[in-house]
Amino acid sequence: MARGELDDLIKLHYFSDIGKDIVKERSLRGVLDRLMARIGECFAPLNWSLLLLDRERDELVFKIAVGKASDILVGRRIPAFEGVAGWVVSNGRALIVEDASKDPRFSERVDSITGFRTESIIAVPLKTEERTYGVIELVNKLDGGRFSALELRTLATIADFGAIAIERAVYLGRLRRRAETDPLTGLLNRRGLGRVLVREGRRMKRYGGQLAFILADIDEFKAINDTRGHAAGDAVLRAVAAALEGAARESDELARYGGDEFLVVLPSAGPAEAEGAKRRLAAALEAASAACAAGPFSVTLGVHAGADPDVGRILEASDRDLYRQKGGRRAKDGLEDEIMAMMDEPKDCP
Ligand code: GH3
Ligand code: MG
Repeated sequence: MARGELDDLIKLHYFSDIGKDIVKERSLRGVLDRLMARIGECFAPLNWSLLLLDRERDELVFKIAVGKASDILVGRRIPAFEGVAGWVVSNGRALIVEDASKDPRFSERVDSITGFRTESIIAVPLKTEERTYGVIELVNKLDGGRFSALELRTLATIADFGAIAIERAVYLGRLRRRAETDPLTGLLNRRGLGRVLVREGRRMKRYGGQLAFILADIDEFKAINDTRGHAAGDAVLRAVAAALEGAARESDELARYGGDEFLVVLPSAGPAEAEGAKRRLAAALEAASAACAAGPFSVTLGVHAGADPDVGRILEASDRDLYRQKGGRRAKDGLEDEIMAMMDEPKDCP
C-alpha cells in the first residue's frame, strides 16, 4: 500500500473510532462528555465552546466551554440568533471568521462578559436532517494564523456525529419518560417507580442513610366513580396528584402506585421529617378537595421511615401504617408484591 493510502486509512479509522465513541452514548450528559474529550484531543489547547439551542426561550446555552474564562461561560445564555453562533444556527451552515473585528456577523456580547478578545472563529452547526441542536465554536487560532479547511472539516465531522448522538439521546430520554409516566396524572407509573426504588436501595447500600415513604389512598373512591361518574373520578385523581406535587419537595419522587393509590418517596428523610411532610401533604390535599370542581374527596396517608437498604421492607411498613389509618378497612391487593417483583426485573430500558 502506498504511503498516502496508508495515511488516508489511518485517518479513516480515527474518525470512525471517534464516531463510534460518541454515538454509543445514550444520555445527553454522556454525549457532551465524549465530545469534550474528543474535541479536546483534536484541538487542544484551543479555546472552544459548545452551545445548545433552547427553542422555548430562543436562547443558546453554553454547555461546554474550554479555555479562558470557561468557568464564567458554562450555563450562560445568549440570544439564539445573534452573533456568529446565531448565524450558524439560523443558517445551518459552518462559518470561518478570519477577523472578527471586521465581520458584521460578530457580536461583542460574549467578549464583554469574559474580557476575552476574539480574533478568529470557526463555527459548525450541531445539526441532523431533522433539526439543529446547537453549535460548536473554536476561537483564536494559536499562532495567530488562519483556521484551515482541514480543521473545519474535522470539526464538522465531529459535530455531525455529536448531533446524531444528541438526537438519539433526546429520543431515548423521551421514550423512557413516556414508558415511565402515568398518562392521567403525569406522575411516575409503576415502571418508573421500580427504577427509583432500585436507585434508592443502591444509594442506601453504598452510603447508608434513611428513606421514607408516604402512601396516599383516596377514601371510597369507588363510590366517587359510581355516584359522580368516571370522568369526575379522573378529575379527582388529577387533583390529588397535583396537590401532592405542589406540596412535595423537588428531591421527592411521586408515583401513581395503583388505581387510587399514590406514593411519595422522600430520599434521606427520617421519621420527624416524614411526619412533617405528611402534615404538609394532608393540608394540601384538604385545600385541593375544597377547590375540586368534581366535588370533595378525602385521602388517608400512611408513612414510614427507615434505614433498611431493602427498601421493600420500608414500603411494606408504610402500607401497614396506611392500613391502620384506614381502620383496617383496606383490602390487600398484592400491589406491593408486584412492585417488589418488578425491582428484580432486568432493566431493558435506558
Ligand atoms: P377505600 O376507601 O377502602 O380506599 O376503598 P376505595 O373505593 O377507594 O378503593 P377500591 O380499591 O375499592 O376502588 C378503587 C377504584 O378505583 C376501583 C377502580 O374502578 C377505580 N379506578 C382505578 N383506576 C381508575 C382510573 O384511572 N380512573 C377512574 N376514574 N377510576 C379508576
Ligand atoms: Mg381507595
